[in-house]
Amino acid sequence: MSTILMYHYLGEAPATADRHAPLYVPDQDFEAQLRHLTRRMIRTVSPEEYDAGLSRNTLDGTAWLTFDDGKLDNYEVALPALAAAQQRATFFVIAERAIAGESGYMNVKMLKEALGAGMSIGSHSLTHPRLARLGDAELRREIFDSKAMLEDALGVAITSFCYPYGNFSQQVVDLVQEAGYRLAVSTIRDNANREPDRFRLKRVMVQPGRTGLSFSYLFSGLYHWVHERKNRRRWMAKRSAD
Ligand SMILES: [Zn+2]
Repeated sequence: MSTILMYHYLGEAPATADRHAPLYVPDQDFEAQLRHLTRRMIRTVSPEEYDAGLSRNTLDGTAWLTFDDGKLDNYEVALPALAAAQQRATFFVIAERAIAGESGYMNVKMLKEALGAGMSIGSHSLTHPRLARLGDAELRREIFDSKAMLEDALGVAITSFCYPYGNFSQQVVDLVQEAGYRLAVSTIRDNANREPDRFRLKRVMVQPGRTGLSFSYLFSGLYHWVHERKNRRRWMAKRSAD
């Protein structure tokens, strides 16, 4: 079993965060989580290692750390903490914002530095729309152009994709595959994935305060048991509503 952890922002949630407050993990929680991984000898993997391991079913005892949106705190807080702990993570960036150097986001120079420190970069689309709502031409731009632009700017292959808002359809999945990505992560919650899941990989959202036993729980069979059932119920409810 390999858990894919989903982070967004590190630090205290600003007063304006409102319903997004659970997306902010305090710095000290993140550092405690990295120590936990090291202590338990859980190896953090790159998308390439995850890809190979998923095919061969050799991901036991590993974790894939993912950060969505590519905000500046990822560079200022996560990167030094990861480097100090000798752990790795993947930053899913919004291509247009990163390449334009939009304020509050990691720019190309920072992303290159992250690559140099052993981190990976993935595409979180071009402009962060709800992909399932887009027409074919726009959809292709978001999926194909974000990959090409990031590859041009960074000089590395971009092999993983992250659906904005966890929003996708079968058409979106097909285009992600056609564009040459090897993996795509969703916001469906679970800590176990198998080969057929590679373009709708389930993740575990790390919320503030998850340290010690409550962090361990995210890697457990119990977490999987609970969420597999929840996902099935949600899927059945959706089917009967369609
Ligand atoms: Zn996002």
